[in-house]
Amino acid sequence: MSRNKCDSCLMPFKMDTGKRESEEYCSLCYKDGDFVYKGNDMKEFQDICHKEMIEKGMNPGLAHLFTFVTRFAPRWRKK
Ligand SMILES: [Zn+2]
Repeated sequence: MSRNKCDSCLMPFKMDTGKRESEEYCSLCYKDGDFVYKGNDMKEFQDICHKEMIEKGMNPGLAHLFTFVTRFAPRWRKK
């Protein structure tokens, strides 16, 4: 099955400027064989995502939107 979005933050892979290591996760979420953020706190994760996107030069409005949709990613869906 081929994916086009990150399972952790839902960022479309075509917007991922880094080098992806995983089929499921983007280069921001998954690095050096493990999650960059290993915790379970979605809010905390969103803060980190937002900061990373701003640092990568993403438009603040877009960064805010992507941060918002993170909650719908499979990784954070309540089982
Ligand atoms: Zn991601």
